[in-house]
Amino acid sequence: MNIILLGPPGAGKGTQARRLETERGMVQLSTGDMLRAARASGSDLGRRVSEIMARGDLVTDEIVIGLIEERLGTDAGSGFIFDGFPRTLVQADALGELLARHGQSLDRVIELQVDDAALVARISARSTCATCGEVYNDRTRPVPASGRCVTCGGTDFNRRADDNEQSLHHRLFVYYRETSRLIGYYWAHRKLVSVDGLAEIEEVAEAVSGILEEA
Ligand code: AMP
Repeated sequence: MNIILLGPPGAGKGTQARRLETERGMVQLSTGDMLRAARASGSDLGRRVSEIMARGDLVTDEIVIGLIEERLGTDAGSGFIFDGFPRTLVQADALGELLARHGQSLDRVIELQVDDAALVARISARSTCATCGEVYNDRTRPVPASGRCVTCGGTDFNRRADDNEQSLHHRLFVYYRETSRLIGYYWAHRKLVSVDGLAEIEEVAEAVSGILEEA
């Protein structure tokens, strides 16, 4: 089964994707993670996208479609979870074509619905484990007093450079200008299901599981 997690930055896509990986053996394909890895490695691609990402703008369709194309031929476990991709109508069309070329299709698009003010609060409090990517929040899910990650025991935690208020407002603007159109697009393709992304992580996970069971 292949699914897209759709929603603005901070809606909880990464958190839910990691749960689905652990619980269902699905494979998360996050273009944001791939681009951050390219940036960290100092590759040509990393250098080209670094400023664009820091501003909160979208990198070109060609780059992210290429990244996804490279991964589609690899082991999908029990299915791919597309996280942060597609973000434009061109990317959405490309994904459909790429999946078809691999004899696959998209089963569901799960929209995590959230309120913008809550998003800004959530994102500016966000940090992640540098080792395994587990997501924490200063207010709702703080790093344990032991200073160790609950998943892997790591002791280094990062804040994303683009998780500041200015960049976040711009990323939200870009989301509404470009990506929110995909809600209508996938509704028309009869793939869209929406869940309340502001519920507790467990409740969102249950809602997502329910959708996958019924698919
Ligand atoms: P994310 O981790 O998904 O929030 O992505 C971080 C940044 O990477 C975004 O703000 C964009 O600059 C870039 N990015 C990630 N995925 C895409 C995509 N599908 N299309 C264009 N740019 C992307």
